[in-house]
Amino acid sequence: MEKVIGIDLGTTNSCVAIVENGTPVVIPNRGGYKTTPSMVAVTEAGKRLVGHIAKRQAITNAENTVYAAKRLIGRKWNSPQVKNAVATSSYRIVEGPHNDVRIVLRDKEYSVPEISAMVLQEMKVIAEDYLGEPVSKAVVTVPAYFNDNQRQATKDAGEIAGLEVIRIINEPTAAALSYGFGRNIEKTVAVYDFGGGTFDISILEIGAHGVFKVIATAGDTFLGGEDIDARIIDWLVQGFKEEHGIDLRQDRMALQRLKDAAEKAKCELSGVRETEVNLPFIISSGRNEALHLQRTLTRETLEELSDDLTERTVDICRQTLEDARLGKDEIEEVILVGGMTRMPKIQTAVATFFAKEPNKGVHPDEVVALGAAIQGAALVDDKQEMVLLDVTPHALGIMTFGSYFEELIPQNTTVPTHRTKIFTTSRDNQTAVKILVMQGESQRAEENELLGEFILTGLRRAPKGQVEIEVTFEINADGIVSVKAKDLETGLEQSIQVTATSGLTRDEIKQMVEDAKDDLLDRRTSEEFEGARQEAEKLIAEIQKLFPQVEQIVATSDFGRDAIEKAKSIVDKANQAIEKREASLVKEQIEGLTRTHRMFKGVVAKT
Ligand code: AMP
Repeated sequence: MEKVIGIDLGTTNSCVAIVENGTPVVIPNRGGYKTTPSMVAVTEAGKRLVGHIAKRQAITNAENTVYAAKRLIGRKWNSPQVKNAVATSSYRIVEGPHNDVRIVLRDKEYSVPEISAMVLQEMKVIAEDYLGEPVSKAVVTVPAYFNDNQRQATKDAGEIAGLEVIRIINEPTAAALSYGFGRNIEKTVAVYDFGGGTFDISILEIGAHGVFKVIATAGDTFLGGEDIDARIIDWLVQGFKEEHGIDLRQDRMALQRLKDAAEKAKCELSGVRETEVNLPFIISSGRNEALHLQRTLTRETLEELSDDLTERTVDICRQTLEDARLGKDEIEEVILVGGMTRMPKIQTAVATFFAKEPNKGVHPDEVVALGAAIQGAALVDDKQEMVLLDVTPHALGIMTFGSYFEELIPQNTTVPTHRTKIFTTSRDNQTAVKILVMQGESQRAEENELLGEFILTGLRRAPKGQVEIEVTFEINADGIVSVKAKDLETGLEQSIQVTATSGLTRDEIKQMVEDAKDDLLDRRTSEEFEGARQEAEKLIAEIQKLFPQVEQIVATSDFGRDAIEKAKSIVDKANQAIEKREASLVKEQIEGLTRTHRMFKGVVAKT
């Protein structure tokens, strides 16, 4: 059966999993880690780095290292979230050609799906290395609260990475799948997912025979661990300013070091009550004196600094329970997901709100990828009994006269679904009406996300309010939205399939797919060469170490001199192959080097 990987494409870290012999497992990367930082960098030499190696050099290459790209995916340039990111990121974010966002790395502009594709490609490579075969299909998770444009952008990222994203599923739903998999339980559960960049809460009913029904979901795509880090950074910057009168924010490198230190301190404070932030030589004073930053942060201060953020997550939980028309006592299990749920204050806030201890049985960093893998396996295996009923995370509707948002499909409606509503014309003799399809919760249309638009023309002339137009919204099982508008008297009908957009055109995506393929090929080739080079150089070094001894022992015989000449020639050839940087040529020399090495060792051992 075809293998489908499950990828949790996180703001901070990503994780890949697969179902093997009926058991979902997380695939470790080459370093043995089960999660990989969602970071991408380009070095001065133009080399692309992804994951841990990108993270390790982030301080010295802050301007060319991207983190938290997920916060920007599928967003419009003029959105407040992008403005915020422009002001606070250490890398450059610029306007793209379609009101989208581009990131500049070493003078080259990349779209956000391209950056996310680099992370997805890394996850694909990790899975391929582990499985020893190519992988082409994936289920990728997104925050439940992502709108259609963000989902489409994630799908595009998959395509650019050479993956067919056979389904996008919501992170909390994936977590519930992993929790309920194979347990045949019937329970109402809440999934509290607090990650690096986003917060999500979902209430689900897990029924017998693998039915997972989402009842309500809500969240905030701009609320995460990064915001808590930012509070620590503010606190450090403020303290430094008071002490030295210098604003550390002016220095990108200092800012990146602060970011690292803030996150580290935050994580440490989950285990200890106080920690020291120590950043020697953080900046120099006006008199060219090196200044150091040294401050003790207690768990209590951290909790105070982030109190309103914790409260915001609890408020969203409260609202979601109301939306689900459930009392706290009806939630039988609370599942914690996301790295931030390791913070003790978060755990107590959740326990206090739901009046029960959260479940500690699932691994917060791995559970989402495992759920995605389970869904992936179920999609290609007819025998697996599993039904996933998700809901629309946002209301869908149209813009009406006066820029009002008229909702047709409310938030938290189980999909697939369709709804119809009748609208009337707003002007006398109006012959055309423009239908703007939107997604969101605000009554003011411009505050919601525009998904698409079309014009229904050829209406018959009549006084205002006398032409009735029936508008039908439909969402199918894949979450695709279509809208139909019909003049009830004439039967004139028009419809569109609302294709959400990532901000990229088809042609751009095609080009990016090709570029990503080339990059992967380059990378595979250079990895192959590096592997061969290391092996060859190790053998050469050992042979050279033995040379003087061997020469002494065998130089008296013709046979010995001949063997030495041959050995020298093999080493020369191997060095030339290494210089040419051709993996195949180096590999050809490895056999000869191994033989020579074995022979040299044999000669030395005999004496
Ligand atoms: P995720 O997006 O689920 O990978 O979560 C990443 C977020 O969790 C980041 O903001 C991390 O700093 C945070 N995190 C990871 N481990 C801990 C910890 N032990 N204590 C507090 N926060 C943590």
